[in-house]
Amino acid sequence: MSAVRLCDKEIPPIGMGTWGMGGGFWTPDYSSDDLYVDALRYALSRGIRLFDTAEMYGGGHTEEIVGRALREHEDEVLIVSKVWPNHLRRDDLIRSALASRARLGVRSIDLYLIHWPSREVPIQESIRAMEDLIDMGVIRCMGVSNFDVKLLQEAMTSARKYEVVADEVEYNVYHKDPERELIPFARRNNVAIIAYSPLARGAVSRDPTLRAIASKHNATPVQVALAYLTRTSMPIPKASRKEHIDEIVGALNLRLGDEDVRLISSL
Ligand code: NAP
Repeated sequence: MSAVRLCDKEIPPIGMGTWGMGGGFWTPDYSSDDLYVDALRYALSRGIRLFDTAEMYGGGHTEEIVGRALREHEDEVLIVSKVWPNHLRRDDLIRSALASRARLGVRSIDLYLIHWPSREVPIQESIRAMEDLIDMGVIRCMGVSNFDVKLLQEAMTSARKYEVVADEVEYNVYHKDPERELIPFARRNNVAIIAYSPLARGAVSRDPTLRAIASKHNATPVQVALAYLTRTSMPIPKASRKEHIDEIVGALNLRLGDEDVRLISSL
């Protein structure tokens, strides 16, 4: 599968998520750090280059794990982190980005996203703060997450100097909503779609339709599900087990036929 270009880096179209590595919703868990560092380094060794994290994950501890695993490879990887909606006021957002960068231990966060839209803070204020962060060298490019077309458009028109380069949204074979409006809009406007929960949190591995398609290609349901998404987006499956990572990387070599796509479209 051909490489994609994002934030001036050439990377394979499948990345890796980190939700659950090192804790949950604003709560750290230090019990399995070595396992996750090992998993992330293994993913890097298998060719994965985009790694997605957030300040909220483990209350920042997930970023520390990502940093421990990958900071020495900063130039090879593309690290994505996100600011939580309670930090979207200008000063809070700048503080959050600086703290995320410190936990990651990198020179700059490659791609920084607004994790969810806020009802309280005007998008313009947050986007302008993101642009200042680019000028300060704290982040290299900016984007959003969980934004529909209307909000994405608002974010794009709020930008004065830089582009909104990505929207990270839930997208998998059972949740194809983004295909209706968001993906066509993003394609026309050169905004990358990053697909989260691309394995429907593991459920695709048990799907009989995907299994039938997979058997034709000597592949697995997970690989079929990911190959479907890479047609229009960059999926970021989360995996901590090495055999799962191997399976995910194997999806990079799978190309689906029109009939396969038609079957998946009807799921
Ligand atoms: P997911 O990637 O759809 O599923 C993750 C689950 O699938 C894990 O339990 C993993 O197990 C399992 N898995 C991985 N490879 C597998 C394989 N080959 N066969 C069977 N099971 C497999 O779900 P997700 O974690 O919700 O989404 C991915 C990432 O998207 C997150 O980690 C996070 O970075 C991001 N995300 C972003 C948002 C947002 O609002 N922007 C929201 C949700 C998620 P093991 O860990 O045991 O390998």
